[in-house]
Amino acid sequence: MRALDIQHIGSELAIRWADGGENFFPLEKLRRACPCAGCSGEVDILGNVYKNPDKVLAPAAFELRRFVPVGGYAVQLFWGDGHNSGIFAFDYLKRLAAA
Ligand SMILES: [Zn+2]
Repeated sequence: MRALDIQHIGSELAIRWADGGENFFPLEKLRRACPCAGCSGEVDILGNVYKNPDKVLAPAAFELRRFVPVGGYAVQLFWGDGHNSGIFAFDYLKRLAAA
């Protein structure tokens, strides 16, 4: 899946896809779905998931400062609380939109 256009509009991230579709992602939903190891947990070789307890996030955590496309397959989001280790693959975002 490729993204033709990504725009930060108010409290949403809008993505226009190469297949013609378009999705609007509320920033809070994106932050809570952050795929980085710190947020979503790490899986060991036995398949056990180690997840941090859900943290209480400050309002700044849901403010999007900027975003950077990554290698044509993903977008990296930079949040108001300094968190930026989540690389959101477009395939992941497509699944998120359908969830
Ligand atoms: Zn994260």
